[in-house]
Amino acid sequence: MPDRAKDRRTERFDAADEAAAEVARRLDGRHALVLTDFDGTLAELVPMPGDAKVSEHVRGALDSLAALPHLTLGVVSGRLRQDVVRRVGPAAEYAAGLHGLEISGPSVRFRHQALNEVEPIIARIAADAARRLAWCPGCFLENKHCALTCHVRLTPSELAEQALEEFEAIAEPYLEARVLRLLTGSKAMELLPAVDWHKGRAVDWIRARVAARLDRPVSVLYLGDDRTDEDAFTGLRDDDFAIGVGDRPHTHMIDARLEGPPAVGQFFSSLETLRRD
Ligand SMILES: [Mg+2]
Repeated sequence: MPDRAKDRRTERFDAADEAAAEVARRLDGRHALVLTDFDGTLAELVPMPGDAKVSEHVRGALDSLAALPHLTLGVVSGRLRQDVVRRVGPAAEYAAGLHGLEISGPSVRFRHQALNEVEPIIARIAADAARRLAWCPGCFLENKHCALTCHVRLTPSELAEQALEEFEAIAEPYLEARVLRLLTGSKAMELLPAVDWHKGRAVDWIRARVAARLDRPVSVLYLGDDRTDEDAFTGLRDDDFAIGVGDRPHTHMIDARLEGPPAVGQFFSSLETLRRD
């Protein structure tokens, strides 16, 4: 059972290497399972999801971390699993997509059955939304087949709310029937299968596989910048470590905060150096 203290104190480390030193101290020889979100954590947030890139610095740090024998690396994202794999490369031994609804790792695969069930529904809503939101400048749909995101980051702010309201109205029957659920972001809304499965469940699933494979306990180090990452933070245990990235809330659930992807890269570089000692 999750035993994370509700009022865990957040330490804001000014330097990424201080945070890394604290993590190294806390892990103290245990196997580290480093699980990280992608957008806003490994890669800078960009208006078009297709443009998101991992910088050379972050990629180098990820590759060095992945080479450590006492550490396993994975990415947990709202993107499709294969999109995560393509953008991060082989450094990520585990890749979870669609907020954990699909996961792959060494000789293991998970795909929530609800994904197949909602595919025809998402296709209908996507077609409907494309027609009904055609009036809105800058609004675009990201169709992940088992999930659908309506982005309004490029829409004039006075129209954005109206567009999102219309998107929600199209999905309303499926939301009421609890077939789909709605995730609201700052400039986007996403429809997903309404199942009790999220990034926190994905973390548990991956932790269990890694612990079984190594036959030893595993401490999780989780990094994320978004509301969906709070599901992962909430499920962490006392010997895990939570890092919030950027300025989003979740203050009571994290141990440390880093400013953005460049600081995450710096943190990974410091962690790699420390763990070699
Ligand atoms: Mg994110």
